[in-house]
Amino acid sequence: MMYEFKVSEMAEEFGVTQTVIKNWISKGTVPAKEGPGGMYLMALSDYHNLCDHFGLEPMLKPSTHVTQEQYHALDAEPAAAKPVVLGGAHSGLYTDANWADSCMTCGTCASACPITGVEGMDPRKVVRMAFMGLDDELVASKFPWMCTMCGKCEVSCPANIQITALMRKVRGTRERDLVPGPIHKGVAMCLERGNNLGIPKDDFVFLCEDIGVELAEDCCPGFVTPIDVEGARVMVTINSKEPFGEPDDMKWWWKIFYAAGESWTIPSEYWEGVNWGLFSGDDEAQKTVVGRLVDNMRRLKCQVLLLPE
Ligand code: SF4
Ligand code: SF4
Repeated sequence: MMYEFKVSEMAEEFGVTQTVIKNWISKGTVPAKEGPGGMYLMALSDYHNLCDHFGLEPMLKPSTHVTQEQYHALDAEPAAAKPVVLGGAHSGLYTDANWADSCMTCGTCASACPITGVEGMDPRKVVRMAFMGLDDELVASKFPWMCTMCGKCEVSCPANIQITALMRKVRGTRERDLVPGPIHKGVAMCLERGNNLGIPKDDFVFLCEDIGVELAEDCCPGFVTPIDVEGARVMVTINSKEPFGEPDDMKWWWKIFYAAGESWTIPSEYWEGVNWGLFSGDDEAQKTVVGRLVDNMRRLKCQVLLLPE
């Protein structure tokens, strides 16, 4: 006996998102196969095992029209492997060939997007351009760079299309010299000097210690800026714009730590809390910057990481 279900149904039943269910299917946690009409099929026994694992009562109705033979026949030509050709083109910018079939141009993403209509922006256009193989046009377009990466479109999309992943992929595909604004320059600076604005270590430490002296004199008796304190509970990272342009802004939250008696520290190096690799679509740079924070957490034996954004 087979079970036939929609991803949305299983997501509701298990109390997770549709993306989680699709991930489970692709990793084999849910041993289901995609069948005709966007429905998924799995053996009844596998479904019951899954319910047992989650402590749930089975709810889905068994399929009455799909046989075991038909289910196994799906192996011969998995639906996910079928090439999707739209207008004779196939985009390299999206990774799930089913998206092109799934998008119904309903516009729900556009309704949810806070910048739809600004200079012609519409997430639907980005999705359709990718599906139609207009890769060069999309990479050259300003739409992905106008996107705030808020994810509202993706959450609201009934077809579960990963629009923000597409936006990041388009961004990451553009030549680095053509990345608009200072984002890529900040990434390059961060990789080279440890923070987005290239503030030298000695200058940073001197500034932080100096602010600490001011705080101690003004309102926080005994305050000493905790630089590289091993065993502190919280490791605090900083937006480099603060020490660069608004150093007094750091005093506000340092005062809160002081009043709360918090155990905290700032690393003397690799303290940048703003990872512009996220916004420029540069996964490798993003990973490097995150890795430095992890190394600092381990070196200083901190339990909590505080990011300013
Ligand atoms: S919400 Fe999803 S299905 Fe609807 S137009 Fe946008 S991407 Fe396509
Ligand atoms: S992630 Fe981008 S495209 Fe999607 S809703 Fe937010 S701003 Fe709009």
